[in-house]
Amino acid sequence: MRLSGWGRYPSVEASVLAPRDAGSTAEIFQNGEGSRMIPRGGGRSYGDSALATRVLSSRYLNDFITLDRRALTIRCGAGTTLAEILRVCVPQGLFLPVLSGTKYTTLGGAIAADIHGKNHHIDGSFCDHIDRFTLLLPSGETAVCSHTENEEYFRATCGGMGLTGMILDATISLKKVPSAFISAQSIPATNLEESLALLRQQNDKQYVVAWVDCLAKDTALGRGVIHLGSHSETGNLEQRAKRKLSVPFTTPGFLLNRYTMSGFNRLYYARQRFKKSVNSVYYDDYFFPLDSIRGWNRLYGAGGFLQYQFVLPDDSAEKGLRETLDTVSRSGKGSFLAVLKRFGPANGNWLSFPSEGVTLTLDFKYEAELLPLLDRLDEIVLAAGGRHYLAKDARMSAAVFRQGYPKWHQFKALKDRIDPAGILGSLQSDRLGLTKAGVRSSQS
Ligand SMILES: Cc1cc2nc3c(=O)[nH]c(=O)nc-3n(C[C@H](O)[C@H](O)[C@H](O)COP(=O)(O)OP(=O)(O)OC[C@H]3O[C@@H](n4cnc5c(N)ncnc54)[C@H](O)[C@@H]3O)c2cc1C
Repeated sequence: MRLSGWGRYPSVEASVLAPRDAGSTAEIFQNGEGSRMIPRGGGRSYGDSALATRVLSSRYLNDFITLDRRALTIRCGAGTTLAEILRVCVPQGLFLPVLSGTKYTTLGGAIAADIHGKNHHIDGSFCDHIDRFTLLLPSGETAVCSHTENEEYFRATCGGMGLTGMILDATISLKKVPSAFISAQSIPATNLEESLALLRQQNDKQYVVAWVDCLAKDTALGRGVIHLGSHSETGNLEQRAKRKLSVPFTTPGFLLNRYTMSGFNRLYYARQRFKKSVNSVYYDDYFFPLDSIRGWNRLYGAGGFLQYQFVLPDDSAEKGLRETLDTVSRSGKGSFLAVLKRFGPANGNWLSFPSEGVTLTLDFKYEAELLPLLDRLDEIVLAAGGRHYLAKDARMSAAVFRQGYPKWHQFKALKDRIDPAGILGSLQSDRLGLTKAGVRSSQS
């Protein structure tokens, strides 16, 4: 079957193996020498990190194993989605400490990308809340990994994009919440300086994220709306069934151009500026607004799209962001929603993305002329001491990756030791020089 990441670029002809349990997963590894594969969860990474000619799906590793209300932990199979965990936890007043902007991320995918939420500046990333996980190594052996057991496997697997083994199950800490609602507030910012100042000032709020109009120019460059949130003390713990809109077919790519995008951005800014200042919002609507539009990734046309996310240290953030936004705005190839967040300190995981500073996320419709623009943005990001998020990447070079992730040596040394036959590899890991090139995508 034809398979891609969420951005629908690139795609590859792949066979999907979906083992029913840990035993059959181990058999696949043991019989798999010479034939490469990569674990795959919900397919919500944007680029090619979960792409190879054979993928090992965690679809059936989705059982709930234990909910320990006293220890405030839950243990589940790695294929369980955040949505499934929340469905069980929220009615009991329990919540996941870190969430991505989609609830269809699986537990395994959340660990492999060490995902971050709107609260990294306070709560760190997903793996900071992992008690332990079971890793099936390429040798077919299993290892329990935590901050104290098999620590180097833990450090390499958290953020390691599926290259160290198949995560079979994991135990994660939960937090107590008084209700299923979020108390949300929006504050407009007229330019980049104000957006960054507001992000800094609101650093003590639990959930903080800014939307930025990346097509605004000159004095309005970087204008946006800062969204704040915290768990509401009032409201109940109900689980609501959600209705979804859907995009029934792939829209023609020409519908997205600099005029429609800048029109959308202007409208969004104007509407948000006058929104009621504090609202009580159901958690699902607050954290996962895009999930309510089924297949929204088809809006970018048949060629798909790329998401581009990077982080810059605080001292170079304003200059680097100004240069980035200016370059994007001049190119006219902007995105609907550019998202700005603050990160707290990095953890010690070797390939985890977050590090202290400011992160910006941009979407771009795929077209051949886009690639030189992104190469130019890479230069700006590296010059400012930043790095790119692997879960969004589909085209970064090995040199750019190595400069952003100085612990890549350590990672590769461990990878070569535990997987000498090269059983695990993706299109991305080949491109980044972490594994040897095996397959070619349709568009490479
Ligand atoms: C709308 C949207 C919003 C998003 N918002 C955020 C956000 O706010 N913050 C953020 O950090 N990310 C965000 N993401 C990205 C997403 O959370 C990550 O890419 C995550 O890794 C996807 O998980 P998945 O289960 O879909 O994994 P996949 O996309 O299937 O795989 C991602 C990586 O995980 C590995 N993997 C998957 N399962 C396993 C396993 N069982 N064992 C070992 N490796 C495994 C794969 O090999 C691959 O390298 C968003 C994505 C979308 C589509």
